[in-house]
Amino acid sequence: KSPRGCVPPSRASKGATRGPPQRGDILPRVVLKNLSYLWPFLRPYRKKLYLGLLTILVGVSIGLANPIVIGHGIDALRQGATRGQLAVYGGLIVLIAIGSGFFSYLQRMLLVAMSRDVEFDLRDKYFASLECQAPSFFHDYPTGDLMARATNDLQAVRMLCGPAIMYASNTVVVGLGSLILMARIHFGMTLAAMAVMPIIAITTKKFGERIHKLFERVQEQFSTVSSKVQENLAGVRVVRAYAQEDRERTSFAAANDEYVERNRHLIRWQAAFFPTLQSLVGVAFVVILLYGGLLTIQNAITVGELVTFNSFLARMVWPMIALGWVINLAQRGSASLGRMRQILEAVPSISDVAITADSAAQTPIEIRGSIEFRQLDFRYKPEKPLALSGLDVSIPAGTTVALVGRTGSGKSTLLSLIPRLLDPPEGAIWVDGQDVRQIPLARLRQAIGMVPQETFLFSATVRENIALGRPEASEQEILAAADDAGLSLDLESFPHGLDTRVGERGLTLSGGQKQRVALARALLRAPRILLLDDSLSAVDTHTEELILGNLRRLFAGRTVFLVSHRISTVQTADLILVLEGGRIVERGSHSELIAHGGLYADLHQRQLLEEELAAV
Ligand code: ATP
Ligand code: MG
Repeated sequence: KSPRGCVPPSRASKGATRGPPQRGDILPRVVLKNLSYLWPFLRPYRKKLYLGLLTILVGVSIGLANPIVIGHGIDALRQGATRGQLAVYGGLIVLIAIGSGFFSYLQRMLLVAMSRDVEFDLRDKYFASLECQAPSFFHDYPTGDLMARATNDLQAVRMLCGPAIMYASNTVVVGLGSLILMARIHFGMTLAAMAVMPIIAITTKKFGERIHKLFERVQEQFSTVSSKVQENLAGVRVVRAYAQEDRERTSFAAANDEYVERNRHLIRWQAAFFPTLQSLVGVAFVVILLYGGLLTIQNAITVGELVTFNSFLARMVWPMIALGWVINLAQRGSASLGRMRQILEAVPSISDVAITADSAAQTPIEIRGSIEFRQLDFRYKPEKPLALSGLDVSIPAGTTVALVGRTGSGKSTLLSLIPRLLDPPEGAIWVDGQDVRQIPLARLRQAIGMVPQETFLFSATVRENIALGRPEASEQEILAAADDAGLSLDLESFPHGLDTRVGERGLTLSGGQKQRVALARALLRAPRILLLDDSLSAVDTHTEELILGNLRRLFAGRTVFLVSHRISTVQTADLILVLEGGRIVERGSHSELIAHGGLYADLHQRQLLEEELAAV
């Protein structure tokens, strides 16, 4: 239903340009603004909506006949009705019940189902929007926050689309219908009833607000308690090792206690809600009974009419409660919609939008892999210092480049800029003689295989993890990639070979195994450009030598960036770049850099010494 690929959210819908509702907006305006934004989502289901509204009208009208039939029945009884007449009245009442029941069934089937359809589309669009955002987006919005929007806020918006529309229309139809029919019986009595009814709506609204706030406080505390439990389970070793059990138990007991206390507070209000409503409703009935009784004695109305009036009044109680509830739903829903729109309308910071037709035509279909940095400066945030500065290197296709440098010197930053996981400034990085910012993202990334410094595996099988970038790969190809990554022996030891599940985030694999699965994933794509960010750091030196021996064969003809802290890994590279504080301080081949006697030679000397010491 939603368009594939990452397109910026359309500004076409009118609602989108009016901006989210502000605090202090009056309710009708808030509702209008929200509806105008939601209308594109409701539109595909408008048939259900209109039919649903129609069933409300028909169902309610049938239901409103009930009090009239009862009233006539009672008046008929007083005038000596026959059995036959009674049977007719009884039959009518049953028919009315069946009729209004049927329509109330239809109404839910249509309107609640519609709200679920809208929910589906909104959730789909929400996820699609998240999938298009640049990695830096997720620094601004923490996971918990995004999850809350996808669950709580989405539910609140759904309530706005379905139940709120349903109850609001119900209230209007029942309320207006009853009022007109009541006024036909006695105008004064209707006025008296009208003085009390709104109080019910206001009371429900006030109680609803209060109860919702208290409920949120309970939920909040509950998540504190759960995360305490979760943290303690995950960190069980640390807690034991530091003998912190008692302290943890005391702190848990306090959180648990607070949870119960907040619940007690909530229960107090919930318990008071219905009795309060009932007393209010009771007062309304007492007033009407006294006033109506007097009118009956004076023969201004019949007993049957009094009963009819009372029963209309009883019918209005629920819509009045619903009204208060709907107002709360609308307020909550519009706040939630505002939060969802922040994500739905977020423009991806890295996308193809800026690509001109001209340069799209120039981009070769096959990227060959020459890379050039021209005076590349990069900083993460305007207020942060430069993470990379003045990088100027030209790398012909097929070169193996090694990046060496202290932790924090900018190696990972440089690698992330090539596939535009971070966005480089304009004109700073060129691939095949074209500014990367002008190459369609899909084409650029198709040519790149990246093994990030922090491996991420999905909770799926080893096979699915390796084939992530090429789901159509054959068994042989997957096995070959695993072999190249030095994973063959491990695969044999796994209970189900390639079909072994790796557990959440690869929990059941060792650090080195995870890294090699990630490496196999990149190799399977046979990319023109291979970015390996310290991807064998968790493997022992001996195994690394073996894997690298394999890989050198695969490196031929590809442009490779190899980040490592080990000189043994990088010494055969065509070009070694030494980074220090975001600058290239030394460049050249292994022997050139050794002869130069700088930082690299230092590092080499130290690692040689360490090896010798280890050998002793
Ligand atoms: P290591 O060898 O430890 O992996 P590195 O050379 O890969 O280090 P980078 O990760 O590129 O170093 O980091 C370079 C600098 O950029 C560091 O000072 C780091 O603090 C900073 N940095 C890295 N990621 C971010 C980020 N997301 N936001 C802000 N600053 C960052
Ligand atoms: Mg790094």
